[in-house]
Amino acid sequence: SVFEGLSGKLQETIKKIRGQGRVSEKDVKDMMREIKLALLEADVNFKVVKDFINKVSERCVGSEVLESLTPGQQVVKIVHEELIELLGREQSKVTFAPKPPTVFMMCGLQGSGKTTTSGKLANLLRKQGKNPLLVACDVYRPAAIKQLQVVGGQLNIPVFALEDNQNPVEIAKEAVKFANMKQYDLVILDTAGRLHIDEKLMDELLDIKKSVVPHEILLVVDSMTGQDAVNVSESFNEKLGIDGVVLTKLDGDTRGGAALSVKAVTGKPIKFAGMGEKLSDIEPFFPDRMASRILGMGDVLSLIEKAQEAYDEKKAIELEKKMRTMQFTMEDLLEQMQQMKKMGPLGDILGMMPGVDAKALKNVDVDEKKMARTEAIIKSMTKKERNDPSILNGSRRKRIAAGSGTTIQEVNQLVKQFEEMKKLMKMMTDMGKRGKKGGFGK
Ligand code: GDP
Repeated sequence: SVFEGLSGKLQETIKKIRGQGRVSEKDVKDMMREIKLALLEADVNFKVVKDFINKVSERCVGSEVLESLTPGQQVVKIVHEELIELLGREQSKVTFAPKPPTVFMMCGLQGSGKTTTSGKLANLLRKQGKNPLLVACDVYRPAAIKQLQVVGGQLNIPVFALEDNQNPVEIAKEAVKFANMKQYDLVILDTAGRLHIDEKLMDELLDIKKSVVPHEILLVVDSMTGQDAVNVSESFNEKLGIDGVVLTKLDGDTRGGAALSVKAVTGKPIKFAGMGEKLSDIEPFFPDRMASRILGMGDVLSLIEKAQEAYDEKKAIELEKKMRTMQFTMEDLLEQMQQMKKMGPLGDILGMMPGVDAKALKNVDVDEKKMARTEAIIKSMTKKERNDPSILNGSRRKRIAAGSGTTIQEVNQLVKQFEEMKKLMKMMTDMGKRGKKGGFGK
């Protein structure tokens, strides 16, 4: 992610002091210098770094640390706490109107990820029970309307557009009326972006703000744009007044330190983080989890949440029963794989675990490719074949290989693996029956 470089350096520094039984003022000073360099190198705003270091130093040379039994750990704890503070302390949630529809106004520079994020948010909040309407307020680029329509189409979320109308204020107002009439309880306005901030754009956004009074004005900021991200946030906040920031492209590989400065500079919280190009790649922003991630303490909470969201409990219980009664079929295997896919790339998930070196995950991709091939093979089987692989004779296998774009060898291999898997399951469930607490399940 964008914090990889910073993360690596901070972890190195921390490692040195973590286990130390005695920490002198000089140790603290040395460490602060290293942290300062790491932050500056990661492109964190200069003033923000200075304040941060001052705060941490002050706390670290206090008697609470130097005289404690585990001074090294105390120092790490303080760095962690101050990093959380820097990122906004607590999760900032979005506001919903007491009387629907709630109106979100998305703004930001062109290319920041505004349209994508509008779709991602609609998708995320729909999962929480909202009924969203996307609104195309960018009247300057016909392609912009089209793009939002494509996003809406992919998500099966309606897009409100008035293609002959050149007035974004009117479009926004009409959209709110429409939402009221059709009972959409969340209106997301995708406003026009420009390459740079200009008066005309700000005036237009202010007009929309005045006429529809959005409940949330969310600024979409590309975390890969360095100090520009901070400047843009400052300008938008001064001229328009924003309620929060969505940081996009946190999955990128440039220095993302600027993003760390946004909250400190504007005083406005980061509410969401975009972590990829897919429309499911968005997460609420949790300062504590992000700080843990940066310091390499692992983001176990995010991980668990992700798994829970993707995992359907009812299906899991059903599956467990099937395994126990040996009715597990290729159909179930396919479903399992699809569940796993919903959790996102394996590499992402492993990367969030404590102690996992992101660089060591290169070969995980290979397995994902293999998984895709396995999926293709199963999908090329008929329902009957999936439920009873024993009927897979030579000609059936040939057909399946051709249908899935794989080879007969691969099909053979899968069938063999599947049989072995079943054997293993049988062994495990037998053991479970014998032992008191054994077996599958929770
Ligand atoms: P807009 O001009 O502000 O509406 O920006 P778009 O929504 O068109 O996004 C610009 C580009 O950034 C597109 O190629 C998006 O796929 C990409 N993008 C948006 N958000 C993310 C993100 O979180 N991660 C990555 N990797 N790409 C993103």
